[in-house]
Amino acid sequence: MNDRLRPDTRLLHVGEAPAVYLKTVGPPIQKGSTVILPDAASLYDDTRPTYGRAGLATHRALTDALAELEHAATVRLFPSGLAAMTGTLLAVLKAGDEVLVTDAVYKPTRRFCDRVLRRYGVTTRYYPPDSSAETIVSLCGAATRLIVLESPGSLTFDMQDVPGVATLARSRGVLTLMDNTWAAGLYFKPLDHGVDLSVQALTKYVGGHSDVFMGSAAAREPALVDALDKAILDFGWAVSAEDAYMMLRGVRTLPTRMARHGESGLRIASWLSGRDEVAAVLHPALPGSPGHDIWRRDFSGAAGLFAFALRHESSVASFLDALDIFGLGFSWGGFESLALNCDPQFATRSHPPRFAGPLIRLSVGLEDPADLIADLDRALLASR
Ligand SMILES: *Cc1c(COP(=O)(O)O)cnc(C)c1O
Repeated sequence: MNDRLRPDTRLLHVGEAPAVYLKTVGPPIQKGSTVILPDAASLYDDTRPTYGRAGLATHRALTDALAELEHAATVRLFPSGLAAMTGTLLAVLKAGDEVLVTDAVYKPTRRFCDRVLRRYGVTTRYYPPDSSAETIVSLCGAATRLIVLESPGSLTFDMQDVPGVATLARSRGVLTLMDNTWAAGLYFKPLDHGVDLSVQALTKYVGGHSDVFMGSAAAREPALVDALDKAILDFGWAVSAEDAYMMLRGVRTLPTRMARHGESGLRIASWLSGRDEVAAVLHPALPGSPGHDIWRRDFSGAAGLFAFALRHESSVASFLDALDIFGLGFSWGGFESLALNCDPQFATRSHPPRFAGPLIRLSVGLEDPADLIADLDRALLASR
């Protein structure tokens, strides 16, 4: 530094970012709004990053890893999973459009469609989640721009014929968007099956520790990548480098954690299906469960999230309150096991599902499954 500079100036300019970093296993957590450009000509050069909002080295490392995960050309980041869904909708829809949405869609996505999209002149129609591909695509009218898929569906785990819908929709010039959070990008690759946009709440399995929010949207078509980029630029969405670093850390152990979640989940689902207190188990990877054939055809593994119906209405609270290892809470995909009852969330559905009894959702964590089964055993006995 120039020795003649005064103390206040020296204080501001000592310890500046190094131009070159030592190589570590992870990327640097590069924080920055301002990007320092090498010369005057670079200031207005649109082909290079000139501002940090769109992400720096840490974000780039994460989006490269997620593009690999989703078999995508490009992945863009959003501040939460919900923001990734709503942001992608805003990126591709305009006033006058119609969107067809599965009735089993994540409930806050529905709230956005009903409250925000409607206000901006986009209409939403909900189709039953078990509709065939032909039925869904036959609903398309002249204004239909997009079909939203979620498979398995939230809470009820309905499996959709995603490749069928994607192929038929494409032939009609209608876009498809899938919420791919359950498969975590690992066990199902929507873009390989013809889906145009794959969205994930990274908050769940990719984060894996219930402590950071983020969402991603993956695409291949240059026009859709451009639409996502413009939306991100126009709305000003940004995620922090610290959070991007945490997500990248999650990506590294995702396959290992998912294998344990999946194995424990299936073991517990199978154990539950033999219990008197249980009327039905909704787990796509469990033989005999609804949608199992589609899961076996299209998916390469299972998450640890599934549901089961108790036989008696009165047993919900006593069951949940007797759980000790399973925490009661929303969200899922963390290392810790969680449970909640689902029925209060069905009131907003256009086609409310009906089961033999109240529905309980379990997010099976990484604990020893024998301890989880013992916990469920005690709670089921307490619920009788
Ligand atoms: C949790 C969830 C989201 C939203 O993710 P957030 O990061 O909590 O906003 C979206 N889709 C599905 C299926 C989810 O379970």
